[in-house]
Amino acid sequence: MAAVHIKLNQHRRRSAIWTMALLGILSIGFADLTSPPDIASSAAAKSPTKGQAKGKSAAKAGGKGKACRRGADTSVDVEALQRQALAAYMKRDFAAAKQLFQKCVTARGRDVSLQYYLGVSSLYAGDFDLTERALCRVVVMTPPQNQFSQLAAKTLKDWKQFCKIQPYSLIHDGRLLRWCNEKEPGEKTKMKTIKIWVADGLQLPAGYVGGELTTDKCKSLYGMFRRPGFFEGLGRVEHYISGYRDVVIKGINDWKWVAPLGIVDFEFVDDPRRADVLYFWCPRSGGDSVGCTYYPWTGSADAVCIVHIETEYLRRWGSRWSKELRDTSCHEFGHVLGLGHSDNEMDVMCGHGVRISYRAKVEYSDASPVTRNDFVSLRALYELPGDAEFEVK
Ligand SMILES: [Zn+2]
Repeated sequence: MAAVHIKLNQHRRRSAIWTMALLGILSIGFADLTSPPDIASSAAAKSPTKGQAKGKSAAKAGGKGKACRRGADTSVDVEALQRQALAAYMKRDFAAAKQLFQKCVTARGRDVSLQYYLGVSSLYAGDFDLTERALCRVVVMTPPQNQFSQLAAKTLKDWKQFCKIQPYSLIHDGRLLRWCNEKEPGEKTKMKTIKIWVADGLQLPAGYVGGELTTDKCKSLYGMFRRPGFFEGLGRVEHYISGYRDVVIKGINDWKWVAPLGIVDFEFVDDPRRADVLYFWCPRSGGDSVGCTYYPWTGSADAVCIVHIETEYLRRWGSRWSKELRDTSCHEFGHVLGLGHSDNEMDVMCGHGVRISYRAKVEYSDASPVTRNDFVSLRALYELPGDAEFEVK
């Protein structure tokens, strides 16, 4: 990719005059879009970064994911396609460049610079749908400090066609986590249904409530879940109200409107042994988290996703528990699907206390709290190959 960047730099110097003359009326200068960041920054998308989810709730990353990764399509000569795409781009044939960059990203979805130039080519070809998708993918697959991410975010914010959307980074400890919903290249994509079980007031045994579920604890729980009578023997959590379970389901269903769009699908099951995601209760989940999502750890045949919701916190909300619980449940299910935290207080995935004060200001509405920012981030995640992809049962 280094060669592409050098050529684009040269191209920018030569063509700055015509581009500014042609496109100067637009809200962002062409020079901004064609200034490729140093190629070293794009490597950040692939190298591990440290970061701990903090705030309203946390999501703990699981293992490497099960073996459902799609193999690279080696039949495509991406280098040759890149050269052709660049040639079209330099000739200002953005429609052709768009098509060629599209082929490149089909083979190399996690190449941030290819996604970025697909977005730029599409923008100047007038294909705003594809621009939005490609630039959202750039933001989602990189840490916020990445220069491609910052340029993509600025374009999405500044061009009125994108209605100021603000996708957010979904990199957890350097990786993208998601559920596997596609087959190998060449086969038709098929949606898989994530099966969810929500406990009606049950908590995990002593030693597994009130603190973080470490890798070892999760793995021993997977073994316990297989034991006959395990779920039937679980005790009830303190301060549980019988309506809690229905409100949790309502919060999860706030994501249901994305299912017909072909991104993810899910259903509720009565038998926890059939479930991919298990919601339990706890008096306190520990730290400043009121909910916590633990991704499936692999190396265990029966790895599942575990979500904890704290009752002590809900008790403090008094008569407003329903609104808070629905929002918390919706937020945790966003983590289950692979989303991280947004900095925007309006987004359901905002992970900071500011969202609580935001909600206190707004009128209660029965509408889903999932925003367009949450949606475009989720869509981008499921258009990209993940570093860990969780198989449904
Ligand atoms: Zn959270």
